[in-house]
Amino acid sequence: MVIKKDVIIIGTGFAGMGAAMKLRQSGREDFVILEKAHDVGGTWRDNTYPGCECDIPSHMYSFSYELNTDWSKSFSGQEEIWAYLRKVADEQGIRPYISFGVEVTGATWDEDQKVWTIRTNGEDYQARVLIAGVGGLHIPNVPEIAGADSFEGPKFHSAQWDHSVDLKGKKVVVIGTGASAIQFIPIIAQEVGQLTVFQRTAAWVLPKKDKPTPEWRKKAFAAIPGAHRAYRNALYWSLEARAIAFNGHLNVLPLAEKIVKRELAKSIPDAELRAKLTPDYRLGCKRVLQSNTYYPTFLRDDVELNTDGVREILSDGVIDNNGVKHPADIIIYGTGFHVIDAFDYLDIKGKDGVDLAAQFRDNGVETYLGMTINGFPNLYFMLGPNTALGHNSVVFMIEQQTKFIIRMLDEMDRRDVAAADATKEAQSAFNVEIQRLVEKGIWTQGGCTSWYLDSQGKNRTIWPKFTFQYWWETRKIKGSDFAWERAA
Ligand SMILES: Cc1cc2nc3c(=O)[nH]c(=O)nc-3n(C[C@H](O)[C@H](O)[C@H](O)COP(=O)(O)OP(=O)(O)OC[C@H]3O[C@@H](n4cnc5c(N)ncnc54)[C@H](O)[C@@H]3O)c2cc1C
Repeated sequence: MVIKKDVIIIGTGFAGMGAAMKLRQSGREDFVILEKAHDVGGTWRDNTYPGCECDIPSHMYSFSYELNTDWSKSFSGQEEIWAYLRKVADEQGIRPYISFGVEVTGATWDEDQKVWTIRTNGEDYQARVLIAGVGGLHIPNVPEIAGADSFEGPKFHSAQWDHSVDLKGKKVVVIGTGASAIQFIPIIAQEVGQLTVFQRTAAWVLPKKDKPTPEWRKKAFAAIPGAHRAYRNALYWSLEARAIAFNGHLNVLPLAEKIVKRELAKSIPDAELRAKLTPDYRLGCKRVLQSNTYYPTFLRDDVELNTDGVREILSDGVIDNNGVKHPADIIIYGTGFHVIDAFDYLDIKGKDGVDLAAQFRDNGVETYLGMTINGFPNLYFMLGPNTALGHNSVVFMIEQQTKFIIRMLDEMDRRDVAAADATKEAQSAFNVEIQRLVEKGIWTQGGCTSWYLDSQGKNRTIWPKFTFQYWWETRKIKGSDFAWERAA
């Protein structure tokens, strides 16, 4: 059986839920959300590791049309953000539209009927429009290390934390020091017996200005009209200012770099250890991290920082590249996610059977506005290529994308067409401009490699402008940027 809908959304993270809300607000009810898990929340359902919290202030890292005056602190924890998303799903009446436990495995464009056929682990679906909110940081990246299968103890990725494993008094090896690792390392260090942290590249770790929200402020936000929105606006502009440094004005960076180096000098008196923790590239080249407890963790006698690299995993330990064995009862991977190659697992075929993953691999990851791709009509990626952020909340980007998609649907209705396909020329112009700016930005100039870059060293991840420029570029449909196609 094929289930027919006008619109299908994949995923119930911020993106999928944001799209569902806007569809409903525009009066469109003929849609379904396919979610492979059994609850909403995406990132905030899956990442349950100790200390998991956002690093963009909660009053900004939330929907502008679902404000929450009650955030308990500046950077809320996973449970609170997940509870917020569950509440939004309930209050916005989204749950009845969700089919849980349905994993999308692929989608094929039918040029004759001008519809997508969507394959899942169960029924097939058919829809005019497909919105993919599958998440950019969703598929755990576990590096292939020789001997990993021979390890006899528990081993897991931070996004798949095994809460049945008791860390108390155990010898634990953590591989990786990215955004998740720097959150859980200071916490587990307090209970494990011995912690060895394998660091490939030192991160820039700024102090985190995290404070509980005073009760009077929550009350004021609730009672005084406009107060909460004014606070959010102030936050938006202060975060937006950070883009000045990243987007090409690299002379602004030494100030922030000085702050981190001062923190390091204060926290780590030992010069050798401090040198290991000091990045050898510019701040902003990789995601800038924030913590008040990460550096001091390495002062503990039972915590060791290893920068020699992992050579091999044995049944009971990890061998570094100097041949030194580090005994381990448990291994935790803090090694991030598949980002650039995240499309590979979705078998998407557009016009003439063109395979999306192969097209991205062979011709580069090119889209129009980070959302839609020439030859793949009526398909929209949320937080697609070059629309992720290092400096502000991605929920802002998601909101511009959902509004854009609704405008596209309205425009298709107005023109009485069945499909809209971004033109090659418009897509190419968008990418030329993005890559021109990316070349000037810190991600290319900063002297690092990162998960922002593809195999050719091109940044296919980050939006290299201010976010209000994205608002500006998506606020209207440019008719000439699309081929508008009637049904056969
Ligand atoms: C630990 C962590 C902290 C972060 N902190 C911040 C922060 O502070 N600020 C910030 O701006 N960003 C942050 N991010 C980035 C974060 O991923 C985004 O902010 C946002 O949550 C992404 O939402 P999303 O809906 O696009 O994706 P996700 O939240 O990943 O949701 C994707 C959903 O799609 C479902 N799905 C995926 N594939 C399929 C399929 N084939 N079939 C069916 N369902 C599928 C998944 O199960 C999931 O529910 C963080 C990321 C992580 C991992």
